[in-house]
Amino acid sequence: MTTKAEVLKAIRNNCLDCCCGSRGEVARCHLLGCSLHPYRFGRDPNPSTRQSHQKPMFHKGSFQHGEAK
Ligand code: SF4
Repeated sequence: MTTKAEVLKAIRNNCLDCCCGSRGEVARCHLLGCSLHPYRFGRDPNPSTRQSHQKPMFHKGSFQHGEAK
């Protein structure tokens, strides 16, 4: 399974490759239209506060007739 961290690392490496290995050029990248731009530092700019080991807020079957159990 591919993890989020692996995807972010791959994006970072792609951006470094795009900028001939220059971290400074990646930081100065002004191509806002590139879908990788928000992730070019290898970080999620809007990380979820929910941890992967936490249960989801709602579970299948937790609602019955429009009300929570
Ligand atoms: S965000 Fe910038 S550095 Fe990264 S792939 Fe896109 S254009 Fe290249």
